[in-house]
Amino acid sequence: MKEAHEAEAYREYLQSLRRNAPKVERGLVLVYTGDGKGKTSAALGTALRALGAGWKVAFLQFMKGNWKSAEENVVPLFGDRWLFRKLGRGFTWEHESLEEDRAAAREAWEEAMQVLQGGEYELVVLDELNYVLHYGFLDVEEVLRGLRARPAHVHVVCTGRNAPPALVEYADLVTEMRKVKHPFDRGILAQRGLDY
Ligand code: ATP
Ligand code: MG
Repeated sequence: MKEAHEAEAYREYLQSLRRNAPKVERGLVLVYTGDGKGKTSAALGTALRALGAGWKVAFLQFMKGNWKSAEENVVPLFGDRWLFRKLGRGFTWEHESLEEDRAAAREAWEEAMQVLQGGEYELVVLDELNYVLHYGFLDVEEVLRGLRARPAHVHVVCTGRNAPPALVEYADLVTEMRKVKHPFDRGILAQRGLDY
């Protein structure tokens, strides 16, 4: 009985945040790039803030990591306000053939476009999109056409090293993470909870 009451109170709390969510007049494009750690982390931080403000957030991953990232575990906490999805067949960091990479990128982009154009989510994260553009798996002009055509109230975050110049030009905010130190340089491997 107590648990049912608590679950109901939690749902009501989420709904009240949603009711009071700020309206977005003009969606912005934010790019996190550079070779220092923190790009996906910054996107997750932005997503957390957006959830707190009552928005719906879609976090779409262009790359399939070798491990299941811990961020997947927080998805159920926010009900239908948090969509977390690996796009298409999911790239791996190991390359197969250019042909296959392009086909996977195309599928991923089509899925991302559906979420973007649907306008249901005030914030859409395209995690590692820059990487896919840099390697030419997707055409940057096509991606820019898609971004321009999105509903006006949708903010977009694009992450990944080597953001192409045309995306940097189009974006409203670009932050470059610069490595000063990384534990990997001293042989310390990726840590669950910090890196994935
Ligand atoms: P994070 O997801 O931790 O914010 P990121 O998105 O900036 O990192 P990616 O280029 O997506 O970095 O690489 C993902 C993985 O590579 C992470 O585990 C991260 O810790 C690690 N990494 C990022 N930058 C470096 C670096 N300069 N040297 C070594 N490893 C790195
Ligand atoms: Mg990343």
